[in-house]
Amino acid sequence: MSSIIQLLPDHVANQIAAGEVVQRPASVVKELLENAVDANATDIKLIIKDAGKSLIQVIDNGKGMSVTDSRLCFERHATSKIRQAEDLFSLHTKGFRGEALASIAAIAHVEMKTKQEQEELGVHIIIEGSKFVSQEPAVLPKGTSFAIKNLFFNIPARRNFLKSETVEQRHIVDEFQRVAMAHPNIHFTMYHNGSEMFNLPISNFRQRIVNIFAGKTNEKLVPVKEETEIVNLHGFIGKPEFAKKSRGEQFFFVNNRFIKSGYLHHAVMAAYEGLLKDGAQPSYFLYLEVPPHTIDINIHPTKTEIKFDDEHALYAILRSAIKHSLGQFNVAPVLDFDRDPNLDTPYQYQNKEAEYPTIQFDSTFNPFADDSNDRELAKQKPAKAFAAPSGYRKETQPSWESLYVGLKQAGQEVTEMTFENDAVSSSLFEENEIEQEVKRTYQIHKKYIVSPIKSGMVIINQKRAHERILYEEFLTNMTVHQASSQQMLFPLQLYFSAVEIDLIRELQHSLENTGFLFESITEDSIVISGLPVNVTESEVSIVLEELLSDLQDGIPDSSFCQNDTIAKSMARSLAVKTGTYLTEREQENLVHNLFACKEPNVSPFQKPTFITMSVEDLDKKFSL
Ligand code: ADP
Ligand code: MG
Repeated sequence: MSSIIQLLPDHVANQIAAGEVVQRPASVVKELLENAVDANATDIKLIIKDAGKSLIQVIDNGKGMSVTDSRLCFERHATSKIRQAEDLFSLHTKGFRGEALASIAAIAHVEMKTKQEQEELGVHIIIEGSKFVSQEPAVLPKGTSFAIKNLFFNIPARRNFLKSETVEQRHIVDEFQRVAMAHPNIHFTMYHNGSEMFNLPISNFRQRIVNIFAGKTNEKLVPVKEETEIVNLHGFIGKPEFAKKSRGEQFFFVNNRFIKSGYLHHAVMAAYEGLLKDGAQPSYFLYLEVPPHTIDINIHPTKTEIKFDDEHALYAILRSAIKHSLGQFNVAPVLDFDRDPNLDTPYQYQNKEAEYPTIQFDSTFNPFADDSNDRELAKQKPAKAFAAPSGYRKETQPSWESLYVGLKQAGQEVTEMTFENDAVSSSLFEENEIEQEVKRTYQIHKKYIVSPIKSGMVIINQKRAHERILYEEFLTNMTVHQASSQQMLFPLQLYFSAVEIDLIRELQHSLENTGFLFESITEDSIVISGLPVNVTESEVSIVLEELLSDLQDGIPDSSFCQNDTIAKSMARSLAVKTGTYLTEREQENLVHNLFACKEPNVSPFQKPTFITMSVEDLDKKFSL
């Protein structure tokens, strides 16, 4: 039989390949805008007619091309941006595949004008369906203009496949916005069918976002900033109350390139946990700068998906930075504490798996102890379920007593909670002798702690509050520093099923970080020789059993989620139960430690830990 394999002619190969790069007019817009950015332009105009079906034109004032380059740029794999494979690991440009112009020229009528600054004349080239039609010298300003007409003229199937003008126009606007958002240092304008749609002067990131989305965007934004060795993160997140039903304004940029990442999106959503109504979507505009060699951009032809070396760490950093911002700007908690650098998330990721970063605690601090004999008492009562240490630091952090300041000094602004109703509350207690005698906390039905505050009163759910305190403490121990452990006089042997033993082995490292010490783990039993400070011997088996059953219900796939589950489970097992009597001192410590938490207003299971009732609310009840 005769041979039947042939090499495809270039123009056919180009047409086929073009399908990958150019799916719709918006793809052309993206490629041309990115080329203009790569050419160091400071002014870029996008001109569109009929949603790109008749014309897509991009005019830039960038570095332009030489006569030779202006022809070469239309060749497949012709690029000035990389020279060798290694360059792929140090990319600083948007393009690098050298395919866009070859692809576009294969399926459209292209007119290009370009001039370099130092040249007298530029060139004017017309190329249609990969065929050069003309090339002439021309008098031009510095920079490059690409006009693309009759897209898909030679692939009617593609042309017919295009969606309505509204849809195609939407895609174009999306691409335009993504590039413009990543480069506020460039002046962008966009015209559609002769009218100006966007005019975005050079500005900062915030202003750029506001200029694009207009309306009330500015007041919705909360800044995010975090600098670590593996990523510099900056940008803005939307306040939860502005969240919408649709997933509109959600943007990640990595090294100034818009990317999509379900994983990072998940991290953001996790940070908003408990703050959004069901199904509501927050806005976010997040810029990540990472060393180019730690990412692989090449996994998708249109380069919107990339691979990170250390996704887990990014996840943790993102989530924690956003949580921090939500808290810091008083979006999440009701109480607006000053930012304490001690609460900042530490990132010691170099030699660590990605773990849940959280706040630092003084693990020797005993809330039961008087200031004078703190340490002594800590030694004597280490195993009390209630001896939850906290991150509370007297010098640097506003204390929960600040909630009461209003009772003594009228008009002093302390927290948001105390702002309301100045007049009423201060006149109630102001300079009042009785105040000295007012008991600060009351336990009600062995379930709630009630306490007067400037605006009225706060009612705390003791169990949930204690869960929150313990949860944050465990997380800290697991991720930041190893917890101290109480050595047991007689090691304790506990029996488990084979499945459970496997799970314990898997968790060993995290459990040890909470303070457990394992002498041995065999096929069917474990021998424990040390316990976390706040777990007593009689509680061990129940804590471990509940933990194992929690983990078996939904075994998390990353160590990061695992830590979270362990902390939640142990917090629930160990928290003071409803029905437990608390001494006044214990009540006070509970309140104290709760408001020293990073997220005091919800339990680890996202249930409210406290509610407030203003004097006004009470007045209303009495006026009936
Ligand atoms: P890539 O961007 O991947 O290099 P392209 O096909 O998009 O591939 O562009 C090919 C080359 O043409 C670029 O590497 C660049 O040197 C040149 N070029 C394209 N657009 C411009 C422009 N607007 N200004 C200056 N040079 C450009
Ligand atoms: Mg390009």
